[in-house]
Amino acid sequence: MKIDTYVSKTYKCVQHLCPCGCGNKIITPIGKNAWNIEVHDDGTISLSPSVGNFYLPCRSHYYIKHGKIKLC
Ligand SMILES: [Zn+2]
Repeated sequence: MKIDTYVSKTYKCVQHLCPCGCGNKIITPIGKNAWNIEVHDDGTISLSPSVGNFYLPCRSHYYIKHGKIKLC
């Protein structure tokens, strides 16, 4: 499943919509104590570690790899 991500260099974060379809905007901060971002040659990104939205009702948990969602 492909996912659109928006990388904000100013705020050092990545935004995307929760892939479960609940419509929540997920913001992952980038940095030492947060997520690590990899930007690939084709313009897609990978985030590590996984994204776990356990504070949302959907409690979705997934990886973003090369601009695609991998559910856990
Ligand atoms: Zn969701």
